[in-house]
Amino acid sequence: MLEIKNLHVDLEEGEKTILKGVDLTVEAGKVHAIMGPNGSGKSTLSYVLSGRDGYEVTQGSATLEGEDILAMETEERAAAGLFLAFQYPVEIPGVGNMTFMRTALNAQRKARGEEEISAADFLKLIREKAKELKIDAEMLKRPVNVGFSGGEKKRNEILQMALLEPKMCILDETDSGLDVDAMKLVADGVNALRSEGRGFLVITHYQRLLDHIKPDVVHIMSDGRIIKTGGPELALEVEKNGYADILAEVA
Ligand code: ADP
Ligand code: MG
Ligand code: MG
Repeated sequence: MLEIKNLHVDLEEGEKTILKGVDLTVEAGKVHAIMGPNGSGKSTLSYVLSGRDGYEVTQGSATLEGEDILAMETEERAAAGLFLAFQYPVEIPGVGNMTFMRTALNAQRKARGEEEISAADFLKLIREKAKELKIDAEMLKRPVNVGFSGGEKKRNEILQMALLEPKMCILDETDSGLDVDAMKLVADGVNALRSEGRGFLVITHYQRLLDHIKPDVVHIMSDGRIIKTGGPELALEVEKNGYADILAEVA
C-alpha cells in the first residue's frame, strides 16, 4: 500500500538533514506504528508525505499503490487515497463543519473525475458515518473546530477520515495534549475503520495509545532512520525501559 524507500529529507532553509534514509512498507489491512525519541523525524516524515512546504526530498521515494506520492499536489494525494490527521487541527471560523466536510469530499470526487454528491445524499452519508462512530451529529452544525474540546477535534478528524474512506491513513499523535479519553477516541476510531483494504501508520510517543490500537508492526525511529522493527512487544519494551537500551543495542 505505502512504500517508502531510502527517503532522505533536508530542511529547505539551512543545511539540516532530518530524514537520513527511511525504509518502510505498510501493507493493506495492517496497522504500523512509529515510536521514537523527540526530534527523531517522525513528524517530518508525515509532513513530507502530506506535501507540506519547507522540506526538500534529496533521495529516495514514497509510493501509494505504486504511484509516486511525492510528485503529487496535496489534493492529488487525497484523491489517491491518502489521509493525514495531525495533532492540532485548524479552526475555521465562519465555515460550518458540514460545509467543510462536503467540500472536502467533493474535492476528492472532482480530482477522481467523479460527480459531486448532492446535499441530500451527503446529509444521509454523514449521518450514517456519525452514527457508526457514535458521534453526536450536533457537532456538524458548528464552525470547523471552533471552540471544540480536544476530544471533539479528535472525533471530528475521525469522522472526516470515515467520510473520505482513505486507503492509507497517517496519524501523527506525537506530542502531549492527548488525554486518556482523547487517546481512546483515536484508538476506537482507528479500530472501527480498520479494514482489509486500508493501511494505517500511527505515529506516537505513547505506548498507551498502542494498548488500545494493537498495531501489527512497531517501528522505532531515531535520528532520521528506522532503527528497529518488531511486533507489539517492541512498544511494551519501550514503555518499560525507554529508548536507551534499543539505541545502545543498535549502536
Ligand atoms: P519528532 O516528530 O520525531 O519529534 P520532528 O520531525 O518534529 O521530530 O523533528 C526532527 C528534527 O528536525 C528536530 O531536530 C527538529 O528540531 C528539526 N526540524 C523539523 N522541522 C523543522 C523546521 N521547520 N525548522 C527547524 N528545524 C526543524
Ligand atoms: Mg517533536
Ligand atoms: Mg513530532
